[in-house]
Amino acid sequence: MKPLTEQEIRTAFVNCTKGEASRLNVPRNLAEQPWDDLDFLGWRDPQAPDRAYLVTELDGRLVAVVLRSSSAASWQARRSMCSLCVTTHTGGVSLLVAPRAGKAGKQGNSVGAYMCSDLACSLYVRGKKDVGTKLHESLTVEEKVQRTVANLAAFIAKVTA
Ligand SMILES: [Zn+2]
Repeated sequence: MKPLTEQEIRTAFVNCTKGEASRLNVPRNLAEQPWDDLDFLGWRDPQAPDRAYLVTELDGRLVAVVLRSSSAASWQARRSMCSLCVTTHTGGVSLLVAPRAGKAGKQGNSVGAYMCSDLACSLYVRGKKDVGTKLHESLTVEEKVQRTVANLAAFIAKVTA
């Protein structure tokens, strides 16, 4: 994806208030992110470990989403699969929950998905970050990238529906 500025990221949030979007922690090292290898930028909030964020471009529009980790720890020891990039990690997948955008979110509705805890799906898919055990798949990197993008688009569609 193309490199983004802090301002672009803050204005792209769809499921939090403008106030929250202006205060949340955006990575300081945006210039050093491996943009060429990213389908989306995801990060953990360094000051609030249960919070995570991701931003991507869908149909030419930037969309950013606020996520919260489920506090349940029991699943962490199990091997789990990321629902976006279909990578299997031991302890490296979190259930992340996004409040839905607009009225639905205000009424407490949310959408959850298992995702790589460090939100580095793009790098796992491209083999730029190692996961230990790999699934034996016959897909090419390009096909895996397309699948990740499609899974992410489906997740965001549920958040913004
Ligand atoms: Zn993943």
